[in-house]
Amino acid sequence: MERFEGKVVLITGAGSGLGRAVALQVAKEGAKLSLVDLNEKGLEETKSEIQKVVLNAEMLLVKANVANEDDVKNYVDKTVETFGTIDGFFNNAGIEGKQNETEDYGSDEFRKVLDINLNGVFYGMKHVLKVMKEKGSGHIVNTASVGGIRGVGNQSGYAASKHGVVGLTRNSAIEYGQFGITINAIAPGAIMTPMVEGSLKQIGGEDGWEEVGKAFVEPNPMKRFGKPEEIGYLTAFLLSDQAGFINAAVVPIDGGQSYKY
Ligand code: NAD
Repeated sequence: MERFEGKVVLITGAGSGLGRAVALQVAKEGAKLSLVDLNEKGLEETKSEIQKVVLNAEMLLVKANVANEDDVKNYVDKTVETFGTIDGFFNNAGIEGKQNETEDYGSDEFRKVLDINLNGVFYGMKHVLKVMKEKGSGHIVNTASVGGIRGVGNQSGYAASKHGVVGLTRNSAIEYGQFGITINAIAPGAIMTPMVEGSLKQIGGEDGWEEVGKAFVEPNPMKRFGKPEEIGYLTAFLLSDQAGFINAAVVPIDGGQSYKY
């Protein structure tokens, strides 16, 4: 029996990187998918990647801005209309924002990063939890970051938003455990996705970013970037019934870097 046979998994930020990797993993294990992103082209690419390996995968694609609560309500309603329920929710869409020291960090940039990374995660939980509470089960995984459990620097908006995601996760997990719902967060280190590539390009430019990347992973105990599929394995586990007694956890997946002195 596949872990996600007959299960409905909703994923935001599904048009790229970690969202796409998790979509692929749970699709291979039998899930029906509701894939949400602002970027429709990205969603179409995810759909065709999945169809290469899971020919008859059932997928709904929904364009939404997670910072807009009406859009969030709409992607939840559409998922329930199409598949009847939501069993797993990977609440993942996010942006890094421009890097700068605190005094130079733009206030508009700060608001934008919080709107997407923090408000978006809150709206997602708010609307999905109603569905899960009614049926008495469900698993939610929010995407935090090592920037949500440690100080990284040059990332005021990102750090505030991801620490906020950790707080929201713990708060809601305490409220909803009694309804058979688990809520956890993952705290990835540097995983090679378009977001990290963009971040390295902010530092090293088009020509120097790969060198910057090599230097960047040097302090990591594993001396490498994480792979999106490694996020896929962890998140699929946390979204499955096998992880049914893991609740309010924030799981680092960073090669051990966040524990290094
Ligand atoms: P990515 O840029 O490859 O993918 C993010 C996706 O989110 C994109 O498809 C983008 O279109 C979508 N998105 C952005 N803003 C949106 C909005 N307002 N509404 C709907 N969709 C929106 O990045 P990724 O690396 O896959 O990041 C996914 C999540 O993982 C983010 O929350 C990010 O902060 C977090 N994260 C990533 C890393 C890493 O190293 N890659 C590390 C820690 C945390």
